[in-house]
Amino acid sequence: MTHHKLIALIALVLTTTTYGQQAPVGYDDTPMQPNGKWRVHDGTRPHPAIVTAPPAGDASAPAPSDAIVLLGTADDLNAWQMNDGSAATWTMKGGVLQTGKGMLRTKQQFTDVQLHVEFATPSEVKGESQGRGNSGVFLLGHFEIQVLDSYRNITYPDGQAASMYGQYPPLVNAARAPGQWQSYDIIFTAPRFAVDGTLEKPAIVTVLHNGIVVHHATPFWGPTRHRSVLPYTPQMASGPIALQDHGNPVRYRNIWVRELKEYDAR
Ligand code: MG
Repeated sequence: MTHHKLIALIALVLTTTTYGQQAPVGYDDTPMQPNGKWRVHDGTRPHPAIVTAPPAGDASAPAPSDAIVLLGTADDLNAWQMNDGSAATWTMKGGVLQTGKGMLRTKQQFTDVQLHVEFATPSEVKGESQGRGNSGVFLLGHFEIQVLDSYRNITYPDGQAASMYGQYPPLVNAARAPGQWQSYDIIFTAPRFAVDGTLEKPAIVTVLHNGIVVHHATPFWGPTRHRSVLPYTPQMASGPIALQDHGNPVRYRNIWVRELKEYDAR
């Protein structure tokens, strides 16, 4: 065995041992999820298999011609505001948005969309589990597709990168290494409510993480929130696209959205 191989083997053993001795990640005192199989953020839930995504390109492809560009190459945040409606305070430089204090959301409201988002967690790894590269893409402001550094970072499966937060883990873990640009392509159907406010159809999402399908027409059982199982309310029929501040520096670039008509509206 070469010197380098020996060092690699020792490193692997140490890493494995560290994971084995780590305090349990996840919760055993949270509500049961509606299907009765797992608790919210259940640490004993199986971890999705790791799938190697194709390598990240240096540049991103331009938006389709009919897309609404939310984050382009110009250093402006004209499409965005803070969650309380005040002017956007996150910093945008060289076409790259850096997370700042407070949640950022679009001025425009949406329903059914195709959404493209590129993000990168810090190349210098700090923190672990939910404290490592945490942000999130909130559809209609209520339904989070988790942004996290999930490259060799164990956390509860329904909170790892690309999870429908607190509800479903991604089908596989397609995360790239820290610092690399990654993409989410999200096809989202907003929830539908009857005139009296009762839910007719839940929100449904399909997500590709780095080009790999990780959710396929999967319904949200309600809005996503830490340690919670919450009901739908009719106000959730439309809303902004929002980006989460979770106290970790995360970069975003090239965000665009296409509004989708209902199938019977064409
Ligand atoms: Mg998050």
